[in-house]
Amino acid sequence: MKSSVSLAAPAHAPVSLSGGRPYLAIPGPSVMPDRVLRAMHRASPNIYGGEVYGVMESIWPRLKAVAGTNQYCAIYIGNGHAAWEAANANLFSRGDKALVLAVGRFGIGWAELARALGVDVEVLDFGKSSPVDMGRVEAALRADTGHKIKALLATQVDTSTSIKTDVAQLRAVLDAIGHPALLAIDCIASLGCDEFRMDDWGVDVTVAASQKGLMTPPGLGILWFSEKARARCRGNDLRTPYWDWEPRALGTEFWQYFNGTAPTHHLYGLSEALMMLEEEGLQNVWARHRALAGAVWAAFEVWGDGNPAIAMNVMRPQDRGCSVTAARIGGQDATRLREWCEHQAGVTLGIGLGMALPNDPAWHGFLRVAHMGHVNAHMTLGVLAVMETGMQALGIAHGAGGIMAATRTISAR
Ligand SMILES: *Cc1c(COP(=O)(O)O)cnc(C)c1O
Repeated sequence: MKSSVSLAAPAHAPVSLSGGRPYLAIPGPSVMPDRVLRAMHRASPNIYGGEVYGVMESIWPRLKAVAGTNQYCAIYIGNGHAAWEAANANLFSRGDKALVLAVGRFGIGWAELARALGVDVEVLDFGKSSPVDMGRVEAALRADTGHKIKALLATQVDTSTSIKTDVAQLRAVLDAIGHPALLAIDCIASLGCDEFRMDDWGVDVTVAASQKGLMTPPGLGILWFSEKARARCRGNDLRTPYWDWEPRALGTEFWQYFNGTAPTHHLYGLSEALMMLEEEGLQNVWARHRALAGAVWAAFEVWGDGNPAIAMNVMRPQDRGCSVTAARIGGQDATRLREWCEHQAGVTLGIGLGMALPNDPAWHGFLRVAHMGHVNAHMTLGVLAVMETGMQALGIAHGAGGIMAATRTISAR
């Protein structure tokens, strides 16, 4: 019998230009490098000896180097929420007090998990567009004359708003008034993107996950902790055997690291990703993110000049994270633009997470552009060009010359 294959699709106009390699420009999961994917594409390794033990031993020093610490590191099978839970379980006993700084959805999320465990949580909420006000932090700490606050929890870059918090400044505030609270920082969206120096900045607990700047599929939650945190938190009653960071970080045998089966394939992927960061050099990785973020910001400035409904969420560049840009494109235009970019050009932009509720029409006025992890100039400039093309196609008013402004920030470096 004869069979025939037809590649003729019904004609539709305009023809979508989304064929080819799609680009997921959302702030996590980020783009997975082919090298990472290839490293994971293998048969299951023996977990009772052999090669994977060596992989693990190579991961520890690199993972510490990425966070800028010589202290301790523990890995959990889980996402960022699991890493928050791990941090909370080790940091607190029931009834202990935590001071949480919120500059968006993620600070609130960490606080909610702590509260559900029985931690007495005080949230300082700075809204969705303003950076942490160090004066308010200082006042809250000074008011705690009995030193009930055991830890200060903050987010280096809140992915929902793209607000960056000056972590070194938080340490300076604690030290200036002699408050003993431990300093714990969520770096899930910023590690391997924005400058971060755990030991130099006096951070006691750093929280991250595999799927953002670490360029590895979702599935690993990672904690780094200081000797001080280790000593201070030893007897905490929220610390169940599963979450206990001690054997994971200080175990001398492979089986102790994961409290169960190791995340074998993720370890190969993470190892490769860490080698990539090492080959590029962490300072260069940070500089690349700064440069690409600068291009995105330059384009938005120009677009916004021609339409007040277009604006970045954070006013001052020094308050913006370098891995993601949250912006408003008013009315329903952010959603229209996201859909155009995905269906006509193969670029998926991030939703405006946390800026409004999904059933609120304002929800459609926000989006986020990720420039996080395995991204380079052609990818980021490509995203911007696609966005500008989409605005033209959809008749969304915008200042002319956004792309030229973006390219200038890169050519003039
Ligand atoms: C992504 C993210 C989280 C949550 O991580 P999940 O893996 O989605 O649980 C928490 N905090 C920040 C800053 C993030 O960017």
